[in-house]
Amino acid sequence: MGLKFEAFFILIRKGRRVGFKRPPAALTKTWANPPTKDGIMIIFSSVKLKELFEKERDYPWQKPEHCHCCNSIRLWGHGFVQTIFEGFIRPLWLKRYRCPDCGCILKIRPKEYFKRFQTPIKTIRSSIEQKAKTGRWLSGIVPTRQCHWFRALRRKIKAYLGDTWMQGILKGFDHLLACGHVPVSRLI
Ligand SMILES: [Zn+2]
Repeated sequence: MGLKFEAFFILIRKGRRVGFKRPPAALTKTWANPPTKDGIMIIFSSVKLKELFEKERDYPWQKPEHCHCCNSIRLWGHGFVQTIFEGFIRPLWLKRYRCPDCGCILKIRPKEYFKRFQTPIKTIRSSIEQKAKTGRWLSGIVPTRQCHWFRALRRKIKAYLGDTWMQGILKGFDHLLACGHVPVSRLI
C-alpha cells in the first residue's frame, strides 16, 4: 500500500484556493492552518526518524502519488531542508518535491509532530496530562518548554472553547486537536 500521504493544509496561490485534502481521522476537516507565506504545502507522512538520522539524504523517501495542489502525478525532487527534532544531536534532512505543472512545493514532515514543533505530539500530550494530574512536569524535557505548551494551551482553550470550558485542560487539548488546531501553538 505504501505510505499514505495526508495534506492538512489548504494552499492558496495567486489568491485562489487550488487544493485541499481531508486530514486524517485524528484531525477533522476543520484543520485549516494557513499555508506558509512562500506557498509550501506540508505533507504529513510516516517517517522513520532513526533511519532518517542514520541515512541522512540517502533515506528512502517515498514520493507522494500526486501533487496535492493540482493532482498532477508528475513530481520532481526539490532538495532537502534541515529540521531539528528532539532526541537527535543534529538536524534531520526532510525531503521536498516540486510539481512542474502548478509550481507547488510539497514538504514531507513526520506526522507525529506538529508543524514547527520538535517534540512528538504524544510527548506534549503526556506533559500536559502529568502537569494536570500531579502538578509536575515530565522529566527529561526542559520545564520552560513544557510551561510554554501549558500556557499556550490554556490561552487556546479560552480563545476557542471559552471561559465556560469545564472538561479540563487535557480534554481541551484533545478537543482542539480533533478540530484541527495545534493545541499548544501560541498562534490564536
Ligand atoms: Zn501541482
